Amino acid sequence: MSTTLVLNADMQPVSFVPLSTVSWQDAVRIIFLERAFVLEEYDLWVIRSPSVQMRMPSIIRLKQYQKHNGKVEFSRHNVILRDNYTCQYCGKGFAFDELTFDHVVPRREGGKTKFDNIVAACHDCNQKKAHFHKMKPKHTPKQPDYWQLATNRKKRPVTVPHATWKNYLFWDAEVVVDENMAPQNVWEVTNDLPFLNL
Ligand SMILES: [Zn+2]
Repeated sequence: MSTTLVLNADMQPVSFVPLSTVSWQDAVRIIFLERAFVLEEYDLWVIRSPSVQMRMPSIIRLKQYQKHNGKVEFSRHNVILRDNYTCQYCGKGFAFDELTFDHVVPRREGGKTKFDNIVAACHDCNQKKAHFHKMKPKHTPKQPDYWQLATNRKKRPVTVPHATWKNYLFWDAEVVVDENMAPQNVWEVTNDLPFLNL
């Protein structure tokens, strides 16, 4: 996660999966291009170059509404999120690292590595299934849509770099603030920020 949260024109994050954030360079660029308003700033993190001095934005809001295309990338994280961190064989909940990626139809039988053939499984069930091929997941896996993943994501805690994010993220689970995720000091930049073309 980067250090500046990007909200859409409707004040919702542009994306929940992953949470829409940008690097400090991109945040500065977007502000100078006048594509967004600054909503919140870091208290102690300041950038000083010969021609610019600014407090780093912690939250920006786009001026133009950006529509989400609803597409979801295939990834281990998104499979586990679709399955709500639950083993699809025994039905128990687990931490991210305790879950494996299980091919419902094994690869050696032509099973593909795609959303409709992969489920989250705990290590025990994954091993059992290697011996008892007839084990079937509780739910037939499907391609998730973005909104389903966004709903599931909001049920999991999120760790953020600045306390102000709590006022904008309407999360179902806890929003944990870890200020070590962002600098808390003045950054002197001797050259002007080269990407600004001032
Ligand atoms: Zn299991």
